[in-house]
Amino acid sequence: MRGRPPAPAPSVISRAVAEPWARTSHPEVNYMDTTTATETWIRTQDYHMHSNWSDGEGDLYAVLARCRALGLKRFAIADHVEYGHHSDVSPRWSEYRKAVAEVQARAADQGIEMLLGIETGVDSDGNLLAPDEIVHEVDFVICSVHTVRGVPEGLEARDEAAYWQAAREQIEAAIRCEHVDIIGHIEAYLPSEVVRTRGETFDGRRAVEREIAAVHFPLDWYKKIAGLAREHGVAVEIHGMSATPRVEAIRLLRDAGAKVSIGSDGHRLSDIGRVDHAVHVAHALGLTTDDFFVPARREK
Ligand SMILES: [Zn+2]
Ligand SMILES: [Zn+2]
Repeated sequence: MRGRPPAPAPSVISRAVAEPWARTSHPEVNYMDTTTATETWIRTQDYHMHSNWSDGEGDLYAVLARCRALGLKRFAIADHVEYGHHSDVSPRWSEYRKAVAEVQARAADQGIEMLLGIETGVDSDGNLLAPDEIVHEVDFVICSVHTVRGVPEGLEARDEAAYWQAAREQIEAAIRCEHVDIIGHIEAYLPSEVVRTRGETFDGRRAVEREIAAVHFPLDWYKKIAGLAREHGVAVEIHGMSATPRVEAIRLLRDAGAKVSIGSDGHRLSDIGRVDHAVHVAHALGLTTDDFFVPARREK
């Protein structure tokens, strides 16, 4: 009796197919480029993610387990510490700080460096919306505009240009703030009624934001931002969840000598480590590790 031929070896499926988070809604972006040393380096880090102490899905141990499963060597939790934010951790800070220290020790046992950052905001004068003692204790500060401050109610609907000018000025004030290290999701997760009402899905909201950014966050403005960011030593985040900023904006930052940073902004565990846009931009612009801001543990 003749034996059956051996079954064919299972085909090698690419990472982009195997990892659902590697997919993107941007058809122009090709995430299938060949791996380079920079890509490998990028994929071992993520400096923007949330735990269930703020509005993330996983507890701190689950976040660590996810990072370890992805092969991250360094990562940071950056939960929300922002006055008025619905999931501000600051009222429970000392309890939180203790919990983080325990998980940092576990991470170190596993050969992983876990940093502690916060994600906060600024008022229209550039004052951080976080208590000083927290700001001085953490390893680094991400500042994101979740609300445009100091503008009259309903301004966006009445005078879109004035509203977005105020948003841009708030970002500039954040860059000038001495405690800020990273500007988070600079042209995504925009504080906008238009995005909320016109965008019916996550991708739909991102599409509306790209239209807004094209008009109100023009490349000419990025030239100014690039100079300011370089002058103040502030990095602009390459935001994984939204695949922003645009490559052309990041080119201007790089050309001015400003740094970029790596952050998924994962709230769900499955979104942690989603840094494909940083990889794409690195390939597109030939970024090297020197172009990235890498946070470090604060000396105690
Ligand atoms: Zn945010
Ligand atoms: Zn965030």
